[in-house]
Amino acid sequence: MTKLIRILAPQSRLGFVMRLLALLAAIVALNLLVDLSITGLDGYNLYGDVLLPVLVATPFTVLALLLVQHLVRLQSSLAELAGTDMLTGLPNRRQFFALAEGEGELQGTLILIDIDHFKRINDTYGHQVGDLCLGAVGRHLRATVRERDLVARIGGEEFAVYLTGAGMEMAERIGHRVIAELPVETDLAAGIVLTASAGAAESWPGATLSELMSAADGALYRAKAEGRARLVFAVAPGPAPG
Ligand code: GH3
Ligand code: MG
Ligand code: MG
Repeated sequence: MTKLIRILAPQSRLGFVMRLLALLAAIVALNLLVDLSITGLDGYNLYGDVLLPVLVATPFTVLALLLVQHLVRLQSSLAELAGTDMLTGLPNRRQFFALAEGEGELQGTLILIDIDHFKRINDTYGHQVGDLCLGAVGRHLRATVRERDLVARIGGEEFAVYLTGAGMEMAERIGHRVIAELPVETDLAAGIVLTASAGAAESWPGATLSELMSAADGALYRAKAEGRARLVFAVAPGPAPG
């Protein structure tokens, strides 16, 4: 059904007219077939067999096409909403997985970032200021990486950055820019200095996203344990046994 709706849904005015004409032609042909099979060729009548069906079918066909068009637009805005984190406007965890897995074989470096002592920000300044800080961190991350890199909010105060095609060197450069003195430029939260801890893992041949996530997560855990506000790299996995 989804496929049928996609085929029927017009993408432009021209597409709308073409589909309308095609559907009307199909209706007229069907009507002719039924009519002539009853009356024979002698019973052909331009008004009854062609003009009348076009007249009756046009408003219903237009309505059906408008409904399908509306349905497809609704579907795509729902999909967009389901994959977007409303606070930061970044992709959420689910969309991050979908986008990263959509890249095929992983070739890049994943950095998991967790804001340090974020609970204190909420406790000291209130939840609303905490939310503003999260928005600011999201914007800072997005502005720090390249267009083709992925940035997502994957948890409360946790973000993921996937640097497509990047090795440790680039990850190190970018990683350092997102752990220290994260700028919070909104008025309400001005003057708050945040730091974050980050764990990075470079992909290896055949690595799955969840393996890469768990390697980066282990590194993030070490970054926290070693004193926070730092970037730690996961130890590269050895060659697969056998
Ligand atoms: P650590 O350095 O160990 O990461 O300490 P932490 O306080 O950042 O970590 P913890 O996991 O103890 O607390 C995370 C805090 O993040 C608690 C929670 O209230 C806050 N948080 C999670 N989601 C949101 C959110 O959407 N808005 C706000 N304002 N706070 C959030
Ligand atoms: Mg956390
Ligand atoms: Mg934290």
